[in-house]
Amino acid sequence: PGVQQDFDPEKKTLVILGSGWGATSLLKTLDTEDYNVILISPRNYFLFTPLLPSVAVGTVTSRSIIQPTRYVARHKKRKVSVIEAEATDVDPAKKTVTFSDNSSIQGQLWSTTIPYDYLVYAVGAETQTFNIPGVAEHACFMKELHDAEKFQTQFMDCVESAAFPGQSSEEIDRLLHMVVVGGGPTGIELSGELHDFLTDDLRQWYPELAERIRITLVEALPTVLPSFSKQLIDYTESTFKEAKIDILTKTMVKEIKERSVVVKMPDGTVKEMPVGLVVWAGGNKMRKLTADLMAKLPETQTNRRGLTVDDHLRLKGANSIFALGDCTATQYAPTAQVASQEGAYLARMFNQIAKRDALETKLKALQANPEQAAEADSMLKQITKLEKWRPFHYSHQGSLAYIGSDKAIADLPFFGDGNLATGGVATYLFWRSAYLSSLFSFRNRAFVASDWLKTKLFGRDVSRE
Ligand code: FAD
Ligand code: NAD
Repeated sequence: PGVQQDFDPEKKTLVILGSGWGATSLLKTLDTEDYNVILISPRNYFLFTPLLPSVAVGTVTSRSIIQPTRYVARHKKRKVSVIEAEATDVDPAKKTVTFSDNSSIQGQLWSTTIPYDYLVYAVGAETQTFNIPGVAEHACFMKELHDAEKFQTQFMDCVESAAFPGQSSEEIDRLLHMVVVGGGPTGIELSGELHDFLTDDLRQWYPELAERIRITLVEALPTVLPSFSKQLIDYTESTFKEAKIDILTKTMVKEIKERSVVVKMPDGTVKEMPVGLVVWAGGNKMRKLTADLMAKLPETQTNRRGLTVDDHLRLKGANSIFALGDCTATQYAPTAQVASQEGAYLARMFNQIAKRDALETKLKALQANPEQAAEADSMLKQITKLEKWRPFHYSHQGSLAYIGSDKAIADLPFFGDGNLATGGVATYLFWRSAYLSSLFSFRNRAFVASDWLKTKLFGRDVSRE
């Protein structure tokens, strides 16, 4: 009650952890009349991750791809409490969540514990570094908004330092060498966007330096984009070749130093590459909170990739917890598409659960009176019927990745053999309209469209914040 302003003791309390793809999609679809809803996340906004690499080079501005969570909450029928805090402990036995305000400014009260009837666990994942030395200290990640902003600042810093009068030729080459680690979609899209920045803008602003900027993509596996088809991989590789982006496959990054990257080459030799800036896009790793939760359920939670859930996204071993998105280990890839469909599914599930719970309350009253045994029996049948929940079904709409030079690749389930790899205006527009239509609000769509227009007319900004 202290946490939620219009707390209704008649309703069950639904606590949602996270404000990303899964949690936001759940909140948008949920009928909040049925529950006391409390959403807890250290980020008080939703981040549209597909356009993060565009923010990193300034094609789109930061504010255009975020939406305040309170904006979504405000449009719900019944009040939703949004709390900017980080969950630090989930206790499935006591059914409580402890959370703390870990931001730089705190009030006198900054940590508390609340009970839940149902918990939706959608905290996502963090970036996998494999504890490789120097990654956390010297590389930029590409996961959160501040990562893209940091990249933009540091990249321009490298260029300006290279322009410093009297800089040696060797040092200019080092400062202008950008290394992207990880040939998954994040690393590929960032390299493509960086190339666009170079050709569209930097050539005019820094004519003497632009030709010396080099982008190297390092991937430990034999190919980039292993989840895409061979045809699309070949297309990406040839596009990168034309764009003069070097791809080093079967090459493993072993250490990142302040001014160099140590790699193990396919022939086993170790090489140290001088570098201005490194971007680390090495994949996902489970959060500590998730590992701690799993440790509390040792018999059922044993998958090292993430949380194990059943067909209804219920956490194995804890009936009142549902988990979705990147924190789970399922047959699906950790994508926004999966998380958002899971969120919408869970919202519909909660609608059914609310109906079931209401009937159960009535059933208890009926069972207390032996004269109402027949009615109780019929209600029990209704409950059993209601409890035949439909399992979660994922409908794949295709995978899309922007690869720079106005080209995109698409793996579309409804398109012939599924592969669409084209360049030019048509793909560019398709890619852009696909993103625009999937952006959550009209407000964000308008922001992004106007950013694209501004970039087309005036180019990207090269001033460093
Ligand atoms: P997230 O969206 O990461 O949300 C997790 C939420 O939990 C966040 O709000 C976070 O602040 C919060 N949180 C963290 N810790 C705590 C805590 N202790 N307590 C409470 N809350 C917490 N997928 C696609 O399908 N298409 C794409 O084009 C695409 N592009 C991408 C581009 C980039 C650069 C990246 C990094 C990812 C991209 N993805 C894409 C993947 C997609 O973003 C993820 O799969 C998706 O975000 C997963 O959703 P989620 O809700 O599980 O986690
Ligand atoms: P990823 O897991 O897809 O790729 C990470 C890559 O880094 C791997 O190929 C791995 O081999 C490589 N790697 C790791 N350590 C390395 C090392 N030391 N040296 C060299 N290479 C190393 O990660 P991602 O690209 O961040 O994507 C994460 C998830 O988000 C995926 O499910 C992806 O599909 C999704 N995503 C989708 C899109 C899109 O659809 N356009 C864009 C971005 C992300």
